[in-house]
Amino acid sequence: MNYKDYYQVLGIPKGAPEKDIKSAYRRLARKWHPDVNPNNHAEAEEKFKEIQEAYEVLGDAEKRRKYDALGSDWQNAAAQAEAQRRYRQQAGAGSHFDNFDFSTSGSGFSDFFEEFFGRMGGGGRRRAGGFTYAQKGQDLETSIELTLHEAYDGGKKTVSLQVEDVCPKCAGTGTVERGRLCANCHGTGRTIAVRKFEVSIPRGVKDGQRIRLAGQGGAGSGGGANGDLYLVVHLLEDPHFERTGDNLAVELPVSIYDLVLGGEVRVPTMTGEVTMTLPAGTQNGARLRLGGKGMPKRDGKFGDEFVRVVGKLPTDLSKRELELFKELAALRDGKH
Ligand SMILES: [Zn+2]
Repeated sequence: MNYKDYYQVLGIPKGAPEKDIKSAYRRLARKWHPDVNPNNHAEAEEKFKEIQEAYEVLGDAEKRRKYDALGSDWQNAAAQAEAQRRYRQQAGAGSHFDNFDFSTSGSGFSDFFEEFFGRMGGGGRRRAGGFTYAQKGQDLETSIELTLHEAYDGGKKTVSLQVEDVCPKCAGTGTVERGRLCANCHGTGRTIAVRKFEVSIPRGVKDGQRIRLAGQGGAGSGGGANGDLYLVVHLLEDPHFERTGDNLAVELPVSIYDLVLGGEVRVPTMTGEVTMTLPAGTQNGARLRLGGKGMPKRDGKFGDEFVRVVGKLPTDLSKRELELFKELAALRDGKH
């Protein structure tokens, strides 16, 4: 893709006054209009488009100023704009370079125009050659952190997100009177604001799952619908439970007497403690299942909770306890 020298296209010097641009455009457009060139229609059409494209930029004082400012450094600027656009999109905000406010043609114009002005324009807004076309706003994506309990409960949650709004001071142009940069937005045309969103968290939502907020993304143009906002769920680690799919795992310290003799132990679950019966002779490290105590599933059922029992040995044995342990050991030896 090559740099388009729009001045060359219109055959005028770089510093040409506005009226010269206009007259050059009119003269060339008349000359190359496809209707008056029936014998070389294809060539005329090509030329005609090129002229229109040049005038689209140079015929608008604001666009021309920006085109001139970027000059031969356009490739750098375009790459930077694209990188920023991606970054902003990830960060959940609109295009920084909306303030460039170049019209996009939708079709017909050169790769240079599309790449440079189209994309930098943050997705085409409105007209080329005077007609309006609707375009859906940008889809935005950002992440939200949820605790395991929030994921379990689901329901409404209010999240605050930083979003970019059109700068009210300069109406998004980035410039104020006499072309000076807008101080309010530092010429970006955008201001950062915190907006609150009410989000419906699906019960049992998983790490990495995307929640769609329809119509909460970038503003549409020309009557087009707004984009959507996607929230990517990031589940925070829970101090007690480890999640695998819809199942949960928990480690439960128990006394060696509970393991040997069996007994009732209290186990934490997502809905509070429950009593679980250990059978006599439960092995250290055994895994027991609490059916339906896991995470909610899409079908309305629940996963399971797996309890790993860890026997805790007493360390502060009294003299009497030691005697009894010795006696037990001797008994055990006698049995073998
Ligand atoms: Zn501003």
